[in-house]
Amino acid sequence: MKLKPGMFIPELLKHLFRRPSTVNYPFEKLIIPKDFRGTPILKTELCIVCRACVRDCPAVAIEIETLSEEEKKYKMTIHNDRCIHCAQCVESCPTKALYMDDSYEVATDNRWKLKFEYVYSRPKKANQ
Ligand code: SF4
Ligand code: SF4
Repeated sequence: MKLKPGMFIPELLKHLFRRPSTVNYPFEKLIIPKDFRGTPILKTELCIVCRACVRDCPAVAIEIETLSEEEKKYKMTIHNDRCIHCAQCVESCPTKALYMDDSYEVATDNRWKLKFEYVYSRPKKANQ
């Protein structure tokens, strides 16, 4: 198709009086959509250490280390620098111990700041 000079003018005029489609970030904060997937956060009191989140994370961004077998003490590390924010860990968790927060300003010049560690004990059952 051959372009004629001036064929864009009607479209240009239409947009002159419309609000911009872009947002004014960072001068204005963004409105976060309801299902936004930010950083995975652990609710330690709900974790039963089944490791389904570790198994299913496609980015190998979750590690669970056993600190003490006797005391059932564990350390979960979430590597947010590796996380692709897919929320698969949240889907896979049988106890809803993980959720995605609404943080989006996570850029940093130091990747170690994106490593989150949780030390906790597995909840004991009533007959244990
Ligand atoms: S959100 Fe996805 S990539 Fe990030 S820790 Fe969970 S499963 Fe892994
Ligand atoms: S966070 Fe959920 S899926 Fe991961 S180990 Fe704990 S209970 Fe299992």
